[in-house]
Amino acid sequence: MKSNRRTFVIHTAVGAGALVAACMAQAQPKPALVDEKDPQATALGYKADATKVDKTKQPKYAAGQDCSNCALYQGKPGDAAGGCPLYGGKQVSAKGWCSAYAKKG
Ligand code: SF4
Repeated sequence: MKSNRRTFVIHTAVGAGALVAACMAQAQPKPALVDEKDPQATALGYKADATKVDKTKQPKYAAGQDCSNCALYQGKPGDAAGGCPLYGGKQVSAKGWCSAYAKKG
């Protein structure tokens, strides 16, 4: 009887530990992508696809510019998306663009 109870206690402790680990993993989801309709994105004319930028509204835009070659982009080369300090904790698309674009030096 005694050993059964001990086994139960150990199993319960392991189970609780796994649950805590699972919860912690869920507490750190991948950062969300910036939505073009977010207020900040609208204000800066952000497009997730730079080729869709309306040049009549964004005369600064030039073909070839996108987040992946912007000085503010924090993603690594090859990443599909990365952080941008202008959009808080959200990620911008590597192929995106906004009017705050600054060519990487
Ligand atoms: Fe992309 Fe640069 Fe605009 Fe950030 S500032 S969204 S990296 S173009």
